[in-house]
Amino acid sequence: AKFEDAGLHPAMLKNVQMAGYSTPTPIQRYCLPAIHQGYDVIAIAQTGSGKTAAYLIPILNKLMGKAKKLAAPRPDPAKFRPGIDPPIRAEPLVVIVCPTRELAVQIFNEARKFCYRTMLRPCVVYGGGTRKDQAAQLQKGCDVLIATPGRLVDFMDSPNTLTLRRLRYMVIDEADEMLQDDWKDEFNKILSGGEQEDGHISYMLFSATFPKAARELAKTHLAETHVRLR
Ligand code: AMP
Repeated sequence: AKFEDAGLHPAMLKNVQMAGYSTPTPIQRYCLPAIHQGYDVIAIAQTGSGKTAAYLIPILNKLMGKAKKLAAPRPDPAKFRPGIDPPIRAEPLVVIVCPTRELAVQIFNEARKFCYRTMLRPCVVYGGGTRKDQAAQLQKGCDVLIATPGRLVDFMDSPNTLTLRRLRYMVIDEADEMLQDDWKDEFNKILSGGEQEDGHISYMLFSATFPKAARELAKTHLAETHVRLR
């Protein structure tokens, strides 16, 4: 199997090649078609398996042709003048929730590679980072948001910063880590927080282990699950 045969948008295939990936890893071979077909996904995946690209590539590939239609109207982020232009609310199409700042930044860097020339703008927010700077980033517009749970809820609760009303994809990465750290309240808020105007949200759950709490989360929020991989 090769990325050339995965039916990717030419611009996405170019991004994949520029990242230096030629052959999909096993988890990518499963996730690409499943996500492309619109299934929710549960994947048992360790770091190093290529799990980040396994969800980023198919999700962004699906969205890139539709970015103009789905994304919130906004000025060109490159021309945004802070303090002069009115701030706009981030209305991401994709939210990726993960347990740590390090992982969030890692996912963000991977997302930047695959967002190149797609019109999709990635942002990252995490606890410990400067809240004001992160809010300013969000207010330039954000299509793909990578976040740790506490900071995500924080921004969901602050006025004119972030709304999940356009959300199409929710990825929970390293779910077991977060459930262990007792982010349960935040999770419930995040997972029910899509004040959805229209359309359907696809859920992806990635976890290194699959304890009871993760199974319950999957049972409550995931439908039509396709992939289970060790
Ligand atoms: P992850 O499991 O997502 O943390 O990825 C582990 C490492 O593998 C990262 O450095 C990726 O950039 C890299 N990687 C992911 N997919 C591929 C691929 N298909 N070919 C080569 N390297 C990859």
